[in-house]
Amino acid sequence: MKTENKLPPIKVKLVETNVYTRWPCTVCSGCTGKVAILAESEDDIRVCEKCLKEGVEARLQEHIRKEIEFVEFLRSLVGRLNVPTYEAWEKAMKENYENDIKRDERLMARSRSS
Ligand SMILES: [Zn+2]
Repeated sequence: MKTENKLPPIKVKLVETNVYTRWPCTVCSGCTGKVAILAESEDDIRVCEKCLKEGVEARLQEHIRKEIEFVEFLRSLVGRLNVPTYEAWEKAMKENYENDIKRDERLMARSRSS
């Protein structure tokens, strides 16, 4: 599903970084490795080394396909989710917290008596 694009091209350049972390890749939605050289545009479009190696267009098309599939999944949920109320969640959280405190008190009482 390749489409012609009338928008201007985007120049992605190799840039040096001193922040060694995994940066999100715009093309595949994965991440870069913890590398010293990143492929980035001035508009923060980043391309990971796997996308550079395997080909940007194919990886972009695969990303688009997965996003469309996810959107279709989300649409399939519309009007079907029968969820607990926020108040029920809040009550369950409070009960969970109180149970944790009771458990901790029992454990502390047990360790004191032994
Ligand atoms: Zn990528």
